[in-house]
Amino acid sequence: MTEPDWDKIAKLEKAIMEKYGERAIINPKSLWNEEKEKEYLNQIKALSNQSFDEYNLVEGGGFLLSNKLFTSDINRICVSCNKYCLNKGDNLYLNKFRCCFNCYVQYVEDREQKWFEKLKHLEGKE
Ligand SMILES: [Zn+2]
Repeated sequence: MTEPDWDKIAKLEKAIMEKYGERAIINPKSLWNEEKEKEYLNQIKALSNQSFDEYNLVEGGGFLLSNKLFTSDINRICVSCNKYCLNKGDNLYLNKFRCCFNCYVQYVEDREQKWFEKLKHLEGKE
């Protein structure tokens, strides 16, 4: 192997540049700036949000839980208003309090201990 022909390489580079424009031979890092960095980070964020949905994760009590925990076995009928809850937003409340979100706000919030006692009572009857 002989020395690379630098002259030839320089000519090739020049030819590439003339054909494809300056961008083709420029160091990618020199095109990087704060705005691109932001864009890149946003893309990562969007991607991670996407995989959130893919795995059917829902946030519950500050934890990420698999949606499967809720959807399959859960009794979707609110013990308070006896409505069948299709709303995904009710999942957490159905799972934890056996009632829909509306009933949670109306009867359970700030009275959780009492509610659980009532639930125990209800379940004892079943
Ligand atoms: Zn309800």
